[in-house]
Amino acid sequence: MNQKIVYDFTRFTTTDYVGEISCIVWHISCNLRCNYCYNDNIVFAKQGLYTHNDILDFLSKRKTLLTAVVLSGGEATMHNLVFFCEKVKKLGFKIKLDTNGTNLKAIKKLLSKNLIDFIAIDFKAPKDKFKFITKKDSYDDMLNTIKYLLKIDFPFELRTTVNRNFIDENDIKEIINTIYCLGYRNVYYIQNFLQTSSNIGNITQNKLLNKDLIDNSKLTIKYRN
Ligand code: SF4
Repeated sequence: MNQKIVYDFTRFTTTDYVGEISCIVWHISCNLRCNYCYNDNIVFAKQGLYTHNDILDFLSKRKTLLTAVVLSGGEATMHNLVFFCEKVKKLGFKIKLDTNGTNLKAIKKLLSKNLIDFIAIDFKAPKDKFKFITKKDSYDDMLNTIKYLLKIDFPFELRTTVNRNFIDENDIKEIINTIYCLGYRNVYYIQNFLQTSSNIGNITQNKLLNKDLIDNSKLTIKYRN
């Protein structure tokens, strides 16, 4: 609780957790190295600006203004979140977890204690491109988390960030087929790659996904940015 594992935090947003007024807590470190990641400063940071106690101090003064806390990063599940989440819950906030979904053990632990209300998982790529995009062989770990959340009927959403140079319409079709076959029926979000001066993979994008080629007969597809 006294380690500076929070890179920074967003004090107020209405867009990240639908229906809630949230604070986003950006945790340092990540187990993946996605080539399109624009949070490289957070991923590679050895120390952040704040501790969980700092965030709790902030939240205790915002009880009437905020309704939820979003755990983001980097990858928030790289850290032990239980004690922090227990305190956040005691203050009366909902908690959303943004995750790459590869740490089922940590997610199970949080869910077993009823500390999370909603999860958003980044479905990085279909199986044959997962390692190329993330530099880690963790596709099955992510899939196991999705299967688990479906099995226990936990509310969650799936989303994919698309750089059309690496992920094309066929890849999206494969992802949709995979998650549909697993039983996923919530909205599937597709978000556009954000090019910055510091993407981990130092990559560009010279064409966009052709939305007309995306099959929306199975799932509701929504596009972000
Ligand atoms: S985009 Fe990839 S590397 Fe960046 S924080 Fe998310 S999971 Fe980690």
